[in-house]
Amino acid sequence: MKQKIVLATGNRGKVKEMADVLADFGFEVIAQTDLGIESPEETGLTFVENAILKARYAAKVSGLPAIADDSGLVVAALNGEPGLYSARYAGVDGDEADALNRRKLLRNMADIADEHRRAKFVSCIVLLRHATDPSPIIAEGECSGVIIREEKGDNGFGYDSLFFSPEKGCTFAELETVEKKKISHRARALAVLKQKLST
Ligand code: IMP
Repeated sequence: MKQKIVLATGNRGKVKEMADVLADFGFEVIAQTDLGIESPEETGLTFVENAILKARYAAKVSGLPAIADDSGLVVAALNGEPGLYSARYAGVDGDEADALNRRKLLRNMADIADEHRRAKFVSCIVLLRHATDPSPIIAEGECSGVIIREEKGDNGFGYDSLFFSPEKGCTFAELETVEKKKISHRARALAVLKQKLST
């Protein structure tokens, strides 16, 4: 019988992505929303702290192992902003948030010279065997890029249309989904997780 594991996110896309990887290691992934578990307040100051908080809460409430991720955009010239607050950078939730967040980012970077517009996407995945697991499995992935001055491309979400990838020669929003999935910060974190699970 497969070992059940709770995924501390309500995002269906993430559930599918992680379920595929974890299935290879004998896990059956259950979304926390299917167990009626809400997300705790994200009070950490780093991606890893927030991922641990989410996983620990899901493990405590469900009594099962749990996995969580936290991700965001880190801009060096803005001292790491929007960082942990990437999803609600402009102060709103929901459908309009992405466009408002991008506009705020462009405003805050208007005076930053081209050579100082480096940024990275970060994804941190944490797996806890139980709520008091003292040595979680931590897998991080990053993607480097540059924040351009106007949006390019219609694919993706969040900050994709402002994130130029030197590796690909275009923004993330100009990449096909399958192409982005191969090189994204989440894909890299998942690859590290896979490697750690197999050892
Ligand atoms: P979450 O960890 O999925 O909640 O992501 C936090 C926020 O970071 C998202 O709402 C986006 O604003 C941003 N973000 C994370 N990953 C990506 C990405 O792959 N492309 C664009 N924005 C992203």
